[in-house]
Amino acid sequence: MEKIPLKILEPGKKVGLVVVITGDGKGKTTSALGMALRAAGYGMKVCIILFMKGDMYSGEMDGIKRLSPDVELHITGKGFCGIMGDCKSFEEHRKSAQDGMRIAKDNILSGKFDIVILDEINNALKLELVDLRQVTGLIDNKPEGLHLILTGRGAHPEVIKRGHTVTEVKDIKHAFREGIEPQKGIDY
Ligand code: ATP
Ligand code: MG
Repeated sequence: MEKIPLKILEPGKKVGLVVVITGDGKGKTTSALGMALRAAGYGMKVCIILFMKGDMYSGEMDGIKRLSPDVELHITGKGFCGIMGDCKSFEEHRKSAQDGMRIAKDNILSGKFDIVILDEINNALKLELVDLRQVTGLIDNKPEGLHLILTGRGAHPEVIKRGHTVTEVKDIKHAFREGIEPQKGIDY
């Protein structure tokens, strides 16, 4: 059968977007990872920084290696903060998040990346592991052409204000509440 080539759409003008994915439903991190996967198809360079969940294994921590070297992942979080029997001090969590902010700033300003993803940054901000002016500073000073994606529940109004595309993922049902334990590849 004759193959019909797929048309590649090239935007007339490249705009570096601020994309915010928030809300209480499932699909924030995986949406951001989906954009990394999509961008990798064009050989675009993507840097993902995971805040908050460094102690919890999730498949993307290894899965993303399959997209290396175009997509790179930095894990800076110290696991859940303040819940799930967590006994680490606020200072330890804050230090990890601050390490993440340094990596974020360096990589955003490096000019090496087309997309930077700050996963769970909204939660880190709410827990005061990072400061509002740090997050708004990253957004306001990013290179014009760079796409910046921020995920996590409870996005700050100042972050929402700066977003070009802002999505709230709404929780309608979650298997967890039916007593079904988290499933590999879907939930982690
Ligand atoms: P995902 O990583 O699956 O895209 P997410 O980033 O939107 O999820 P998080 O708040 O980071 O959501 O939580 C990640 C984990 O918590 C996943 O295992 C996900 O299935 C689960 N989860 C997300 N929303 C809910 C919910 N409303 N109730 C219970 N578990 C949830
Ligand atoms: Mg998430």
